[in-house]
Formats: sequence, structure tokens, C-alpha cells
Amino acid sequence: MAYKISEDCIGCGACAADCPVSAISEGNPYVIDPAACIDCGACAGSCPVGAPQAE
Ligand code: SF4
Ligand code: SF4
Repeated sequence: MAYKISEDCIGCGACAADCPVSAISEGNPYVIDPAACIDCGACAGSCPVGAPQAE
């Protein structure tokens, strides 16, 4: 299981800055590496539009 970023992403970068394992890469939308994500939920908490969602 890993979080995934939806098309709602507006590219603000807040999630990438807050991810403790640097699993999030810049993109449109931003992308979470499922092999690195530890399911902490920090990205969901920092996103202004609720784009990161638990799979
Ligand atoms: Fe990073 Fe946690 Fe979001 Fe996974 S759930 S991408 S580890 S902030
Ligand atoms: Fe996209 Fe939300 Fe991450 Fe900002 S915090 S880059 S809107 S997923």
C-alpha cells in the first residue's frame, strides 16, 4: 500500500517538502514512489487540495 496523488494536484510542492522519506517527485501531478512511501499520511495532511489519497 502507498499513497497516490490524484489529478487534483496543483503542483505547489508542499507534500514533497513534508515527506519524511523523500518519496515524492515533482511532476504534473506530483508522483509518489510506491516503493519508498511508508504510508505516514503527512502528504495528505499538507496538501491544500486533498490530492494524496491512500490506495
Ligand atoms: Fe511520503 Fe508519507 Fe506521503 Fe508516503 S504517505 S508519500 S511517506 S508523506
Ligand atoms: Fe500537489 Fe497537493 Fe503535493 Fe501540492 S501538496 S504538489 S497540490 S499533491
